[in-house]
Order: sequence, then structure tokens, then C-alpha cells
Amino acid sequence: TGRPEIAFTGAAAEHVTFSYGNETILSDVSAEIPQHSVVGIVGRSGSGKSTLLKLLMRFWDVQRGSVKLSGTKAADINTKNLREMESFVTQETHLFHDSVRNNLKIAKLDATDEEIKEACKKASVHHFIMMLPQGYDTPVGELGDTLSGGERQRLGLARAFLHNAPFLLLDEPTSNLDSLNEAVILKSLHEEREGKTVVLVSHRQSTMRIADTVYSVEHGRMS
Ligand code: ATP
Ligand code: MG
Repeated sequence: TGRPEIAFTGAAAEHVTFSYGNETILSDVSAEIPQHSVVGIVGRSGSGKSTLLKLLMRFWDVQRGSVKLSGTKAADINTKNLREMESFVTQETHLFHDSVRNNLKIAKLDATDEEIKEACKKASVHHFIMMLPQGYDTPVGELGDTLSGGERQRLGLARAFLHNAPFLLLDEPTSNLDSLNEAVILKSLHEEREGKTVVLVSHRQSTMRIADTVYSVEHGRMS
């Protein structure tokens, strides 16, 4: 399209109302995600945290209110521009029946081996990969079912680090990880935060420590 490319300067939800069907999940929700901040989102299971992240990724369109990126309605930003702005880790990491390397490269098609290795170190998964029979050339099973939840999660994080967009959306990025792996990842996020904006959904108190602001979602409302 002829729309100009815009740089990421922060995100916001403004009076957002959203439902999947008849049931309203979010009701008149507003949140400010200033550039270069780490914003945490907490709330009970099923409260709408992932839904909110998905709205920020424009997986769905809002029914009322607006989601804005760089002051522009998400709906008015072209998809390529949107994907360049955002790196995300969802609660499920989808892997293809292909090598570890190719599974990572979907985040950056022209990534060099060195860049891949760096991203994997940040995600605390490089050593694990090096212990696989063929390292980065090891095939992963369909949907990655040969890997544990925590290994898949770290590969998802490695993708996000490799993609290296200015806006990082992380949905429970450390939920399946032991505290040692979590510490590596939080350290990486902390080091990355210069020049990055992060939205972080987590139940873990230890993860929320890196957040500047924490919103709580409850009964469709956010405070
Ligand atoms: P959790 O902490 O368990 O990940 P959450 O806060 O992320 O929960 P959401 O995934 O945002 O919760 O879901 C909010 C509500 O919307 C839930 O009741 C869920 O069942 C429902 N829901 C989520 N995705 C869909 C969908 N694609 N279609 C219909 N309903 C959905
Ligand atoms: Mg969720």
C-alpha cells in the first residue's frame, strides 16, 4: 500500500472493548506503553491477558476503542510495517518439521549463523542446541514434540531476539523455565531494554521485577 513506513514510538490501548463471541473479554480498557519502558500485565487465568497482547499484535480487530502503535491505529498500519515493529513470544511456540536453524530463521530469513548463535545465547538455549546430535542442523519433530515445553519456549524467545524488533510482546515467556534459565533470560531482557519497549505477561513475581509499570486485568477491566 502507499502508506508511509512508521517507526515505533510507543503503544496504547484506548477504551478498548473486545469479545470473541457474546462474552465480553475486555471492557473499556486503556493502557499506555511508553517507548523504552517495560510494562507488566498480571491477572488470573482467563482474564484476558493474552487477548490484550493479541490485540496489540492485531491478531484480532477491536470492536470498540482503538489500539495504537506510534499514535497510529493498528488497523491503519500495513502488515509488513507492523511485523517489523513487533517481536512476540506467544504461549505456544510453533515449530516446523525442519532443522533447529531453519526454525529460528523464520524470524529473520537472512540471519547469519553468528546472529542465530547470539540470539540463542540470550534465550539460554545455545548450550542445549550444541548438545543435540547435529547441533543447529538437528531436525525437530513435527510441532517440536520431541522437545520439552521449556526448550520450545526458549526457542520462541530466541526467535524474538533474532527478529530484534523495537517492540517486544512476551506472553508468559518464562512459565516453563527453571530459575536458572529464567535468570539468563531476564538478564538478556534487561540488557536489551535500551532502545526496546517490552510488554510482559507473567504470573511470576520474579519476572515482574523488571517491569516499570504493572497493570492488572480483572473482570474485563484493567487497573
Ligand atoms: P492464561 O493466564 O490462562 O493464559 P489469559 O488471561 O491469557 O489466561 P485469554 O487467553 O486472553 O486469558 O482468554 C480470555 C478469555 O477468552 C478466556 O475465557 C478464554 O477462554 C477466551 N478465549 C481466548 N481465546 C479465544 C478464542 N480464540 N475464541 C473464543 N474464546 C477465546
Ligand atoms: Mg494467556
